[in-house]
Amino acid sequence: MAEKSFKYVILGGGVSAGYAAREFAKQGVKPGELAIISKEAVAPYERPALSKAYLFPEGTARLPGFHVCVGSGGERLLPEWYPEKGISLILSTEIVKADLPSKTLISAAGETFKYETLIIATGSTVIKLSDFGVQGADAKNILYLREIDDADKLVEAIKEKKNGKAVIVGGGYIGLELSAALRINNIDVSMVYPEPWCMPRLFTSDIAAFYEGYYAKKGVKIIKGTVAVGFDAHENGEVKAVKLKDGRVLEADIVVVGVGGRPLITLFKGQVEEEKGGIKADGFFKTSIPNVYAVGDVATFPLKLYNEIRRVEHVDHARKSAEQAVKAIFAREQGKSIDEYDYLPYFYSRAFDLSWQFYGDNVGDTVLFGDSSPDSSTHKFGSYWIKDGKVVGAFLESGTPEENKAIAKVARVQPPVDNLDELAKEGLTFASKI
Ligand SMILES: Cc1cc2nc3c(=O)[nH]c(=O)nc-3n(C[C@H](O)[C@H](O)[C@H](O)COP(=O)(O)OP(=O)(O)OC[C@H]3O[C@@H](n4cnc5c(N)ncnc54)[C@H](O)[C@@H]3O)c2cc1C
Repeated sequence: MAEKSFKYVILGGGVSAGYAAREFAKQGVKPGELAIISKEAVAPYERPALSKAYLFPEGTARLPGFHVCVGSGGERLLPEWYPEKGISLILSTEIVKADLPSKTLISAAGETFKYETLIIATGSTVIKLSDFGVQGADAKNILYLREIDDADKLVEAIKEKKNGKAVIVGGGYIGLELSAALRINNIDVSMVYPEPWCMPRLFTSDIAAFYEGYYAKKGVKIIKGTVAVGFDAHENGEVKAVKLKDGRVLEADIVVVGVGGRPLITLFKGQVEEEKGGIKADGFFKTSIPNVYAVGDVATFPLKLYNEIRRVEHVDHARKSAEQAVKAIFAREQGKSIDEYDYLPYFYSRAFDLSWQFYGDNVGDTVLFGDSSPDSSTHKFGSYWIKDGKVVGAFLESGTPEENKAIAKVARVQPPVDNLDELAKEGLTFASKI
């Protein structure tokens, strides 16, 4: 098969790839120099839409509506944008072998791609229950959500099992957003997770109590402290019931599993330095191999603000790290320098009529402020995290754009506080004064 050569190759066609492509165009990439190779059949899109408006019965999002970079208020890069810029968008092409010393990628169909500079943007894959050998986990309608094909299967199942029953396994981001999306579709939803409260990696028990109460009011049944240990199926292979460790059995027409992800780095095992489960990168997203960069979910990078090395699986970082890597590549070629990446962690989620944002680090003591009762009419409340006498993290539900900006500033500036009771009383007023 013919070999194709490019000056730059982005491996992966997700969020980072799309934002990198826009930055390449801004930096003046020449026609024929850049290729994006993606397993997916569609041009880069804003992945978070898949667990939100993609599943809504009304106001449904469909491509081309949410191609990058609309998620951050930018230009929408339609599939034709790429050839217009002379960028090769090579879709439905899975790379199965990467040889970094010879700068070669090989696809499942046997094509060879050569590059001078590579950006690894392969993102994450979902952890499957069948990976742990959970009995019956390969039954039909046990679904996962990572890519648009997965979302289409879910949309199909929602249509087919109208007014049916769904069990959501997992109480993290995906679990919370999908429970809401299915409920809005009039599906009877139960959520199951082993932890004492939902989203324990970020939420305090106080924050979680609001969401659990709110979801219960919306008719979502929450079952905590247990896990799915097996599934029963109908004769046609479709899932029928979920068996829980505590002995309960839940009827289910659809099961959606959201138990976490894993960065996709196996292609590069042994060829590049790893750290904390990802590919080790510097503040310019350069890896240990010359001319190889890693961005988005796969990159473990220096988080300057906390003097720590971390991996961040969130869309804001995917966008910004991609832009930083491309800027660094061009700066290097032009003998210029740019500032090191200085990222303020930012996560968000939307479900039902709720919307929260979080900035900074969720470590140390916490104070809750505002009205966090699930019955509250405004449901405007939040939390600060305080470490070594400084506010290092801030969470806000139902904030206005100005209020969200204010909590972002708090997390960046890290103002000192000496009285936590005062801080709780002041709440958002504290942030608006910074
Ligand atoms: C359903 C869902 C909802 C989310 N919601 C939010 C949210 O609300 N807020 C938030 O902050 N974050 C959210 N995230 C996380 C966010 O989407 C990711 O952090 C972000 O997409 C990471 O970007 P990336 O470019 O690193 O990877 P991805 O966007 O996953 O892109 C990776 C791409 O690489 C391709 N690929 C992988 N391996 C190969 C290969 N061998 N050959 C060819 N192509 C390959 C994949 O097919 C994919 O196109 C959500 C994620 C999901 C799945």
